[in-house]
Amino acid sequence: MFGDAKESCGVIALSASHKSIQVSKYAFDGLVALQHRGQESAGIYVYNGKSIKGYKGLGLVSEAFPANTLSRLIGNVAIGHVRYSTTSKSNLENAQPYHFTSTYANFALAFNGTISNFLSLRRELEEKGHVFTSDSDTEVIARLLAANLLEVEDYMDALTLTMRQLEGAYSMVLLTDSGEIYAVRDPLGFKPLCLGTISQKEIYVVASETAAIDTLGGEFESDILPGEIVRVSEGEVTRKKAVTLERHARCMFEFVYFSRPDSVFDGIPIHMARERLGRILYRLHPADAELVVPVPDSGRSAATGYSEESGIPIAEGLMKNRYVWRTFIMPLQSYRENQVRLKFNPVKSVVDGRDIVLIDDSIVRSTTIKQIVYMLKKAGAKKVHVRISCPPIIAACYMGIDFPTRRELVAANYTVEEICRFIGADSLGYMSIDGLIEGIGLPENELCLACLNGKYPIENIDVTLLEKTLGGGRR
Ligand code: SF4
Repeated sequence: MFGDAKESCGVIALSASHKSIQVSKYAFDGLVALQHRGQESAGIYVYNGKSIKGYKGLGLVSEAFPANTLSRLIGNVAIGHVRYSTTSKSNLENAQPYHFTSTYANFALAFNGTISNFLSLRRELEEKGHVFTSDSDTEVIARLLAANLLEVEDYMDALTLTMRQLEGAYSMVLLTDSGEIYAVRDPLGFKPLCLGTISQKEIYVVASETAAIDTLGGEFESDILPGEIVRVSEGEVTRKKAVTLERHARCMFEFVYFSRPDSVFDGIPIHMARERLGRILYRLHPADAELVVPVPDSGRSAATGYSEESGIPIAEGLMKNRYVWRTFIMPLQSYRENQVRLKFNPVKSVVDGRDIVLIDDSIVRSTTIKQIVYMLKKAGAKKVHVRISCPPIIAACYMGIDFPTRRELVAANYTVEEICRFIGADSLGYMSIDGLIEGIGLPENELCLACLNGKYPIENIDVTLLEKTLGGGRR
């Protein structure tokens, strides 16, 4: 039942100081900028001065909102969400934002992450009489917050209480029925969340990535800090550090793959980090090749670094069809295999007769890289040396990035030599964990590396229970 509920997503929130400013179009454009974080559903909820109204639809942002939908979402405050699920079940029931209404609370919530203690929290809430209508952990957060609102004065205090009960990764935005927005980032800071302004601070914007603020023509103001709550109301910003921890656990996969290269995550420009990883990758695993070929788009920055460090020219030997969904976030294996062929095509004139070094960001199941190596060789590449800017992924993620179980993770089950043979490469070299830390440029105790070393940063995480409840074969 609960296996349908896990996700990693993108969120946006906007608050204009004047009621005449309609923000739903900004929310829409911001979600388009965050489209890479989720492509299965999208939703926008607005506050129109009296009540909260919203619309959610399946598919890409452009598909989810039919013509004229936005013009009916009138209001100067809004939150939005893009989602991908972990199973084939992409339904509106689990789409966000989640709108909670009762006699004592009325708010909409959008969140990115995974609550690792959601099962026990859900049971406690059920014992108190809460009746759940979905299997999502978003509803657990919403009902927990609603329960806490009965105990304390206001949303700031209720969110503080809620943060102390939640375990896991969550960057979330909240829209209240008095037109306030709140942005909350978990104390370990797994996911990015940042604050910006548009039109000389006429509009405040909170987004999963800085690239969304740039897209809206805005100015980056600050990151929402791990453990921080930020309230924006009628042009006023209030900040509260609700929980302070000695260590943090920024998801290394945001730096390696998930975030856009034009985003900056907690002060680290993603493109620069990936370029550094490419340089380190060359020093760890040099290759005797004539060309460096990136797997577009996420391997491009690392390939630039590899090329600069090695002196081997970089060339676009693979083209990408931009209108095909990202393979990692496609929910079904059968879809994924077809999509790789639809998505990539080698440039024969570039690779024919050449020894190439192919740079990709990560290998999860190996579906994609195996087919790409095959296609490159079919197009005439003499040798294909594969270099990966992320270390081997050997453990599941319970914090919001939906890797498969260990059974499906190729590096958890085979040696590098075996994987190399399986994908048909002439050589294979992975980034080391030390190299990854150096390339990202943050100390180890500021990062989550759990899928690389099995050390989960959340205390008391019940891996066995989570494996069972997330569905042994999730994705
Ligand atoms: S386990 Fe891996 S993918 Fe999951 S949050 Fe940690 S670093 Fe990110």
